[in-house]
Amino acid sequence: MLYEGKAKKIYSTDKPEIIRVEYKDSATAFNGVKKDSIEGKGKLNNLFTSFFFELLSEKGIENHFEGKISETEHLAKKVSIIPLEVIVRNKAAGTLAKRIGKEEGFPMPFPIIELCYKNDDLGDPMLNDDHIFALNLASPDELKQIKEKALRVNTLLQDFFLGHGLELIDFKLEFGKTTEGTILLADEISPDTCRIWDAVTGQKLDKDVFRRDLAPLAETYHSLAVRIGILKNEA
Ligand code: UDP
Repeated sequence: MLYEGKAKKIYSTDKPEIIRVEYKDSATAFNGVKKDSIEGKGKLNNLFTSFFFELLSEKGIENHFEGKISETEHLAKKVSIIPLEVIVRNKAAGTLAKRIGKEEGFPMPFPIIELCYKNDDLGDPMLNDDHIFALNLASPDELKQIKEKALRVNTLLQDFFLGHGLELIDFKLEFGKTTEGTILLADEISPDTCRIWDAVTGQKLDKDVFRRDLAPLAETYHSLAVRIGILKNEA
């Protein structure tokens, strides 16, 4: 094992350029303050992530995904993760709704990008471009690429979800760098890292059900997977 995070374990493989990602059943929120183990969550998030990375590859967004190998695992290219949480927001929710004093669901006139320093000890503070350059987290050209890719991902995912009567409110991406210096989309795309609402009723179909004790997480993620056609409606 190379690394264990809150929701995933990363292992080396017999190929130095490839890692194995294993999704755990643990759910955490508020920087690890709220925790639970939820049977079936690992399988569901591996299913979501594998599906979205394949969809984005087909649409020309280069990413680290190298194929699902079991219910809870996929392979990925080894990259060094840029310690930035790249958040894109179409409507205000969560911390943005609080920061600007608007109701959740307040529409933003254009997608808002926020960049946060991926550092649990500091509580993932928001950084501006100057902080990022001063800390050498990314060069101006790399940051430009990251923002452009994040906005393209937003458009592609928004279109996908709307086709299923769902609204993409916001999401978080992470990017990594290969040894050759190419920037690749990495990490995870799942309802742990996105806010997804029913376009008509506004029902929340993402980790907010766990953060706010609104509904059981596994049932919610399962129904989302069925709704977007990546899981059959059984059990
Ligand atoms: N997000 C995430 N990991 C984090 C922080 C945020 O995946 O460590 C996602 C979150 O699920 C939401 C979006 O980024 O889809 C914006 O999150 P926000 O800043 O509102 O924080 P939250 O309310 O999720 O703590």
